[in-house]
Amino acid sequence: MIKYNLKCENNHEFESWFSSSDEFENLKRKKLLECIFCSSKVIKKSIMAPMISVTSKAENEINNLNKSLKLEKENLLKIRNFIEKNYEYVGKNFSKKVREIYYDKKTKKTIYGTTTLEERKELEEEGIDLISIPWIEKDN
Ligand SMILES: [Zn+2]
Repeated sequence: MIKYNLKCENNHEFESWFSSSDEFENLKRKKLLECIFCSSKVIKKSIMAPMISVTSKAENEINNLNKSLKLEKENLLKIRNFIEKNYEYVGKNFSKKVREIYYDKKTKKTIYGTTTLEERKELEEEGIDLISIPWIEKDN
């Protein structure tokens, strides 16, 4: 079924359901369509209806995207909370600290912090495994 917004020659607007766009054309050709207000048989489709259906479809997609974004954000927040609770934060000293731990085999602790791309590359070349995770803000 398709819903069309229709308009007569006197600018009366109303809506009507058709099984297909062909049915609309057929009824119109046979002059079986008429305005519900003035009975005029000069009826045309108003451009409103298709616009509405496209918009609501896009709206659904945006809503779904928002929902999965929200879930994703919650998961990232969980990771962040876990790391903050269990690991030691060393901030910008990360690459220095991580080397200390790596070369001093006795120390076994997990730290987190920030590196520059350059530092990260150096650490990788030394065989130090790092994982990076997206870090999101808690507020907002
Ligand atoms: Zn009319």
